[in-house]
Amino acid sequence: NVAPNDLEAFWMPFTANRQFKKAPRLFVGAKDMRYTTNDGREVLDGTAGLWCVNAGHCRPKITEAIREQAGELDYAPAFQLGHPKAFELANRLVDLAPKGMGHVFYTNSGSESVDTALKMALAYHRVRGEGGRFRLIGRERAYHGINFGGTSVGGIVTNRKMFGTLLTGVDHIPHTHLPDQNAFTRGEPEHGLHLANELERVVALHDPSTVAAVIVEPVAGSTGVLIPPKGYLKRLREICDKHGILLIFDEVITGFGRLGTPFAADYFGVTPDIMTTAKGLTNGVIPMGAVLVKDEIHDAFMNGPEHMIEFMHGYTYSGNPIASAAALATLETYQDEGLLTRAAELSDYWAEGLHSLKDCPHVIDIRNLGLIGAIELESLPGEPTKRAFNAFLKAYESGLLIRTTGDIIALSPPLIISKAEIDELFDKLRTVLMNNI
Ligand code: PMP
Repeated sequence: NVAPNDLEAFWMPFTANRQFKKAPRLFVGAKDMRYTTNDGREVLDGTAGLWCVNAGHCRPKITEAIREQAGELDYAPAFQLGHPKAFELANRLVDLAPKGMGHVFYTNSGSESVDTALKMALAYHRVRGEGGRFRLIGRERAYHGINFGGTSVGGIVTNRKMFGTLLTGVDHIPHTHLPDQNAFTRGEPEHGLHLANELERVVALHDPSTVAAVIVEPVAGSTGVLIPPKGYLKRLREICDKHGILLIFDEVITGFGRLGTPFAADYFGVTPDIMTTAKGLTNGVIPMGAVLVKDEIHDAFMNGPEHMIEFMHGYTYSGNPIASAAALATLETYQDEGLLTRAAELSDYWAEGLHSLKDCPHVIDIRNLGLIGAIELESLPGEPTKRAFNAFLKAYESGLLIRTTGDIIALSPPLIISKAEIDELFDKLRTVLMNNI
């Protein structure tokens, strides 16, 4: 156990343990759908860790692969020679990716995948002699990780404001200017087109030939589960194509089965030029990310059949053997257990359970897609996060882990969740919401 004073050294800005200084609450074990905690509870994992433990916790095949690899080849610098599993994994990822995305660049996290994708987009234009394309466009209310690039293109003002200018030449597509702030999430096609056309307006703020890339989460997760209306992503694709702008999908959350397809690109039928992944790639067990790239992007760096123009970017741990082994075992687990389509099979049942909470006090909106859900609560006056945080504490006491962002409860259970566990999750949540939060 950790004594209260021992909490000081680990500087973790967001931990709920700030509330529990006298008796820190910690996870000490996990198996499949549940954590065990230092106060002896079992807690149903309603969030797959942080949207990452898609196959459930401590899965023997993944654990064993890590153990075996650590004993056999612990580190192999990819900058010199590399090792077989990184190549095997890249091929597996290409097989899984939308057609035409034939190349993989390894990172160690979602944030690194995003910064890699942005640098790749800028470099791509440059190697093609279009170095004047330096602008990047993100969206309001988007989260793209916490490194400099991702913070700059991200749409959360509070995440940006302490860090000076960050990247310059960044614009954000608005979507919260409508009188009804949740219109984006209702799936109405006219909103889709209207909101996507906002990109045209943002591009037109400048000379379109100065814009390098647009980055979006196909479904924004961390900022409260924002599901685009039909036609939105297709229209973004059209606008990007019209102006020669690259389209980047940040699939750090939506990748690896969250929507019932391998990637959100498959679900929405729109292929980006560059796609970022992390989280579910290794089942959240070992830090690893991968950027998947269309052949045209990769090939632009080829100067003749043999000579590749260097893309000056890469990490000490890119394609690390232990991470690669974990990712291979994870993909095998997804395949063996049908987990990449399981969210599609369960999504109606999931939606029914989720929407059964609509009459609970203070619920003002409910959203779902695949195995993602959000319950938006009416805020207490002047306290935009308190009600959901109260729900978080009560849920924890009742043996359920949820995630909150503002006054929105976000849910994304491991894809192995059973119908009985879905029932349990929503029964617990109903009790919480009915309990004067
Ligand atoms: N992009 C998206 C869409 C994310 O949701 C996240 C993490 N929640 C990131 C990037 C950053 O990933 P990481 O925390 O692994 O750096």
